[in-house]
Amino acid sequence: MVVTALMAFGTGLTLLPAAPAAGVVEPEPSEFPMTMPTSGMVESLVGGGCSSSRSHPGVDISNLATSTATEIYAAYPGTAYAINKGDGYGLRVEIVHPYEGGYYLTRYAHLSQAFVSADGQPVEQGDLIGLMGRSGSATGVHLHFEVRQGTAPGSDVPVDINEGFRPCRNLVSAGQPIRVDLAPLTWIPRHDAFVGMDIAVLGIGAVFPGVDDGVLQSASAPRSTEPKHHA
Ligand SMILES: [Zn+2]
Repeated sequence: MVVTALMAFGTGLTLLPAAPAAGVVEPEPSEFPMTMPTSGMVESLVGGGCSSSRSHPGVDISNLATSTATEIYAAYPGTAYAINKGDGYGLRVEIVHPYEGGYYLTRYAHLSQAFVSADGQPVEQGDLIGLMGRSGSATGVHLHFEVRQGTAPGSDVPVDINEGFRPCRNLVSAGQPIRVDLAPLTWIPRHDAFVGMDIAVLGIGAVFPGVDDGVLQSASAPRSTEPKHHA
């Protein structure tokens, strides 16, 4: 286990696991390792909330001050994909954050522009990945930010991150910690692990293909049942 842990810390951008070089300092785990992906006002929470009670797997953040120029940043290091399936999410970026035994996935939807590759590329926390927009099913310019967790690829389900964003109409700033417990996100993941993988094999977006601003519509995950525990 000691060897495994050292390898996880030391891989960084390399393709093959390797022991850390002498003098390399292991990063300090953080209690709240994810950071705010943008600046603006919290308009909607996981499960609905705020002005509506709809089923909703993410948090909506608007920024009327800068409109579509509002920058979107990676909430955590990982492998980022630009995705546009013509569905309700519109143009989105998804970042896979593997950890031993599973992975998190962060989703940034309704973008006007994406600055990462469709084939996947490593990004660091705080990297500029896109611009806020209203692509897909969006009534106005905002970011739909969603955190998902899974074990086998494609098994991810939404995580309740509301505690890190409340109250409604809360003003948040890009880069500030998202104060929600996301254990076991306590070490730097091997964000090279998914580079080059076929996105269909990986299963990104395959679980809930019929979404409308994150409102679940697919037969495999009926909207009447899936997000209940997040309400
Ligand atoms: Zn949303």
